[in-house]
Amino acid sequence: MAELVERRPDETLPKPATVLGLPIHLMPDYLAWLVQQLQHQQGVHVVTLNAEMAMQAEANPELAAVIHRAELVIPDGAGVVFYLALRGQRVNRCPGIELAAALLTQSVAPIPNAPKPTQPYSVFFYGGAPDVCEAAAQSWQARVPGIAIVGTQDGYLSPDAQPQFQQTLKTLQPNIILVGLGVPRQEFWIAENRHLCPNAVWIGVGGSFDIWAGTKTRAPSWLRDNHLEWVYRLYQEPWRWRRMLALPQFAWKAVVTRVLN
Ligand code: UDP
Repeated sequence: MAELVERRPDETLPKPATVLGLPIHLMPDYLAWLVQQLQHQQGVHVVTLNAEMAMQAEANPELAAVIHRAELVIPDGAGVVFYLALRGQRVNRCPGIELAAALLTQSVAPIPNAPKPTQPYSVFFYGGAPDVCEAAAQSWQARVPGIAIVGTQDGYLSPDAQPQFQQTLKTLQPNIILVGLGVPRQEFWIAENRHLCPNAVWIGVGGSFDIWAGTKTRAPSWLRDNHLEWVYRLYQEPWRWRRMLALPQFAWKAVVTRVLN
């Protein structure tokens, strides 16, 4: 395994709450915090925690360890919000795709009081099917003129081609690296490779490239607003049903562990 970057104690982050023993950082404005990290060139691994990932981490201590080492863990899913609500913590959901999109939009915004123009922040997309990754980048180029996407790489590289890709990242030193390989592949990949670009913000974005490329769609807002995004996901990708059994299992655990503690 490649060298792992040790987690820095960060005084700008509140003490994390926990969800099934995993850390979760609760703060009003994740975007502002990430922009601050970019400005100070502080490397960050962002994990977007949902019920499915929490259940996977229960069964996979290595994944749990990676989540513990991430600088920022955000409440991506309705299940996590439900878990915290049961414990008296009212939290707004922050879907990873929305935080990543906000960061991409922000990447071209001027920095107030910056000594010299350091914008735009450079961006790299890694993951998704070959056409998907490129189409996602093109859609962002059209959406945010001036965005500096310095490279894309689909998520189906052979192991033999990895070293060259790692060298590319090392040379480019992008400021923002979005990795969409699915859970837990993307979390492990980031943990093992973030030393290549130690000052970057790395975010595991799951299937976000598919959404931005237009090959999949997000649930309509009325479903999202009612914590039912998973219903739409199941309708769009019925083959996920087995994986999605983790959701009722998570909800059951959330209730039982609350009652017993
Ligand atoms: N993917 C990839 N390489 C792989 C396996 C998957 O790039 O070896 C991509 C896949 O094309 C899709 C994303 O990873 O774009 C997984 O999306 P999903 O919505 O399943 O993510 P999850 O729910 O696991 O976060």
